[in-house]
Amino acid sequence: MGNASDDCIFCRISRGEIPCRKVYEDDEILAFHDINPSAPVHFMVIPKMHLENLYDADLAHQELLGRMMGRLGQLAREQGATDGFRVVINNGRVGRQEVYHLHMHVLGGPERLGSGMNRT
Ligand code: 5GP
Ligand code: ZN
Repeated sequence: MGNASDDCIFCRISRGEIPCRKVYEDDEILAFHDINPSAPVHFMVIPKMHLENLYDADLAHQELLGRMMGRLGQLAREQGATDGFRVVINNGRVGRQEVYHLHMHVLGGPERLGSGMNRT
């Protein structure tokens, strides 16, 4: 649950073992561009600690989740999503989660958002 897994892709990215196009980093949070973007601006914000998804989160994580959420507007604007954006969190099988390390997708950009938005 809270333990970084050796074979978790996003834990490996947050440890610097796998490269990413970084958007933002601090002690608790990392943001990086999605390798397969669904919108002109598509990056993810993750906690550095390993939480699988929101099933793994409780009130003990509210400050961390608030910090993540509180960064999104600033980061979206810096990345060029100045006219609106979506935030998507996929959870579990029915939520079509592919990577089991909690992440908030930020989707936006200067163009009209395409149908790829529906995927994430
Ligand atoms: P999920 O369906 O779990 O919400 O989305 C996982 C996302 O992670 C997908 O959009 C996928 O493109 C992205 N992704 C998977 N592996 C990597 C990777 O190694 N690097 C980056 N930057 N993104 C990844
Ligand atoms: Zn992880």
